Amino acid sequence: ATMPPLLSAIANAGRHGVLVKSAVVMERLGDTQVVAFDKTGTLTEGTPRIAEIHPTLGGGFSDGELLRLAAGAEHPSEHPLAAAVLAAARQRGLAIPAADTFASTPGRGVSATVQGRLVWVGSPALLADLTPTLTDTGAPAQMTAAVDTAEAGGRTAVVVIVDNIPAGVLALADQLRPYAASTVTALTALTGTAPVLVTGDNPGAARRLADEVGITEVHAGLLPTDKVARVHALQGDGRRVLLVGDGVNDAPALAAADLGVAMGSHGSDLALQTADAVIVRDELSTLPAVIALARRARRLVV
Ligand code: ADP
Ligand code: MG
Repeated sequence: ATMPPLLSAIANAGRHGVLVKSAVVMERLGDTQVVAFDKTGTLTEGTPRIAEIHPTLGGGFSDGELLRLAAGAEHPSEHPLAAAVLAAARQRGLAIPAADTFASTPGRGVSATVQGRLVWVGSPALLADLTPTLTDTGAPAQMTAAVDTAEAGGRTAVVVIVDNIPAGVLALADQLRPYAASTVTALTALTGTAPVLVTGDNPGAARRLADEVGITEVHAGLLPTDKVARVHALQGDGRRVLLVGDGVNDAPALAAADLGVAMGSHGSDLALQTADAVIVRDELSTLPAVIALARRARRLVV
């Protein structure tokens, strides 16, 4: 017997490196009307590196001490920014201290007690959130300036706060994935609509990356619930939305989208479980290929 078209399309997608979880998903892939991409770990490699360390003048921390405490707090986190902080600390031969009480807030950052000190590492929005508790040394203004410079340069800025002292800023740089721009072009041609960017990162870094890949519609600074709201807004006009993401923080939006697609080797367990399909080896160019496959299979089914 010949295999039904949707099943052979699933097998074919598998050969392209895309795991499609059911025939229904395979069929719906062909209906995709707009694609939304997460940024970090999806359009970028998700292996950022620390490019600069800016301790505040009044904070009294050296580069190494700032990095060591930040690494202690980030140790339990599975976020790509945490991996970058740990890698930089290890590269400097720093012993990474244990975190006693660890908490993470999706889209914001982490907090932990490191050697008796309360350490926060995360989004510059934390500065505003924590302002009432901060020991004012004139440091918040210095930190904001360092954050602005980093973000204007397309970097992701992360703030470090130690025992309510604004201690410094880490500037991180990430790399675009191969074929990100040609994938955006191919998806625009296939769906008739340009893909959009939805990210928790800052507007500066988001805009810069969007320009590089040819995306014009950018939604930055989004918390996980904002990503869900954005998916619903895109669906508002009756469009079928496919979202590609990788992180724990993307799971609610992957579930909300008509189709959720996770990046395989970089994806969190939750994203992989929630997604309808998985780009196993993180090759973006397989996405338009599989949508085209789905369309062909549907024509054979009907
Ligand atoms: P994206 O949507 O681009 O994948 P995320 O939602 O994962 O980004 O993160 C958004 C922002 O939250 C980051 O740019 C960073 O400022 C902050 N953040 C989240 N988790 C961490 C962490 N573990 N360490 C430092 N910053 C973090
Ligand atoms: Mg991500």
